[in-house]
Amino acid sequence: MIKDNIELVKANIEKACIRSGRSVDDVTLIAVSKTKPNEDLQEAMDAGMLEFGENKVQELTGKIEFFNNPDIKWHMIGHLQTNKIKYIIDKVYMIHSVDTVNLAEKISEQAVKKGVTANILIEVNVGLEDTKFGITVDNAVDFALEIAKLPGIIVRGLMTVAPYVENPEDNREIFKKMKQLSVDIAAKNIDNITMDVLSMGMTNDYEIAIEEGATHVRVGTAIFGNRNYNI
Ligand SMILES: *Cc1c(COP(=O)(O)O)cnc(C)c1O
Repeated sequence: MIKDNIELVKANIEKACIRSGRSVDDVTLIAVSKTKPNEDLQEAMDAGMLEFGENKVQELTGKIEFFNNPDIKWHMIGHLQTNKIKYIIDKVYMIHSVDTVNLAEKISEQAVKKGVTANILIEVNVGLEDTKFGITVDNAVDFALEIAKLPGIIVRGLMTVAPYVENPEDNREIFKKMKQLSVDIAAKNIDNITMDVLSMGMTNDYEIAIEEGATHVRVGTAIFGNRNYNI
């Protein structure tokens, strides 16, 4: 079942790449496994998935320990509290949700302490919903300049969580703005900023996100089914 879902999502990714003249090799599927049991992740791994996204530190570290597989890339995609950075800093491949200078500074401190370089993404709020985390498009360049100076981190790119919309086409403008912002920041050639990652698109809108330039799509429901937060 999960295997079939992954195949379907991959086929859709391929079609979106063809429509937009992109190479499938330029798009990474991250399986968002939050709330899902280890058996489900194992099924996804058996189907070839090696990149997983989680949004809670405790659940993430539990899964990392359980699988203990250095080939897996774990992505921290949720809001990260500064006091929990130390538990994941040398265990995750990338932190997608950096949206304050304080958080970037604390990640930098922990990375230096552990002797690692942390891949981070700047979370941008293009949809401008009050409930969401993320910095505004207007502040993004200054924010990037400021945090790029910190030791132990490399700014790999941008991430956004677009709002849920009935018609995914309604998020196309948001994805376009994200792509433009990433091109604008890349053009500044700032040290420690590569801008080779654009993390956007979820179950509802990943195909549109790919058409607009996403390099990483974070897909949960379409792979693992609906989440039950009450158990
Ligand atoms: C849960 C989550 C996803 C996956 O959402 P689906 O709609 O289930 O694909 C992607 N990104 C973030 C940041 C999430 O928290």
